[in-house]
Formats: sequence, C-alpha cells, structure tokens
Amino acid sequence: MSETIFSRIIRGEIPSHKVYEDDKVFAFLDIGPLSQGHTLVIPKEPAATLDQLSDESSAAIGRILPRICRAVMKATGAASFNVLQNNGKDAHQVVMHVHFHIIPKFGPRGLEIDWNPGPFDHAAGAELARKIAAAV
Ligand code: 5GP
Repeated sequence: MSETIFSRIIRGEIPSHKVYEDDKVFAFLDIGPLSQGHTLVIPKEPAATLDQLSDESSAAIGRILPRICRAVMKATGAASFNVLQNNGKDAHQVVMHVHFHIIPKFGPRGLEIDWNPGPFDHAAGAELARKIAAAV
C-alpha cells in the first residue's frame, strides 16, 4: 500500500493542528475547511478505504469519534454537523488513507448535500438484503 500525506502528518514530518492522538487514532484540522472547525479523524493504520480497515482500528475510531464531535461542537458553538467518510475516487476520496470528516454546519457554511432518493423495489430489495447479510 502506498503511503499518503496523512502518514507523514501522523509522524509529525508535516505540521498539522492536532486536536487528539492515542495509540491508534490521530485527529487534526482540515487544511481546506468547509466550515470553521472542520476536523479529520484518521486511524494510524494506513488503510486506504474503510472496508480495508482492521476491526481494532475501527473500534478505536468508533470509540473516540463522538467525543471529538462533541469537542468540535463545544469549541465552535455549532449545533449541527455532518460526519463524512469518502471511499474511492468516484466517491470524492482524494487522500487514500481512511478519514472521517467532522464538518460543523453554520447556515450555508459546511457540507452541501445533493440527495436524490430513487424508488424502492421490495422484491429486489429483499434479494439484495439477503445477499448483503450473507456477505457480512
Ligand atoms: P477527501 O476528499 O479525500 O475525503 O478529503 C481529503 C481532505 O484532506 C480534504 O478535505 C483536504 O483539505 C485535506 N487535506 C489534504 N491534504 C492535507 C494536509 O496536508 N493537511 C491537512 N490538515 N489537511 C489536508
């Protein structure tokens, strides 16, 4: 797996505004913020996408993510926020190291979502749910 800029940030070779660190997780301010307080939470494990992340790193992220969200809200005064996690180029992932964006929402500042729900076919949905459940 090729190394990304985030591994260098974790090692301190590239400066960042760190907000949290433990043995498995690192969090810092995003250099291109969608809003004030836009924070990235990343595993130290250099997995490219979430589906490749180990259970141990996933658990470590899951344990701390809500606490960092609360800290971002407290520090910025935001009452609303989005957590965004992109996987793959078509899904807007640019840095190929797993990362969770915490993006405070202040009026128009923050994450804009173009959400276009389609119709639901229950027969196809039942078959798909069966396939996914078998793969878990
Ligand atoms: P993605 O589109 O991959 O989900 O988001 C990558 C994020 O990493 C972007 O929001 C971008 O601003 C941020 N980013 C890229 N390079 C750096 C960097 O060197 N330092 C910091 N703090 N953030 C970075």
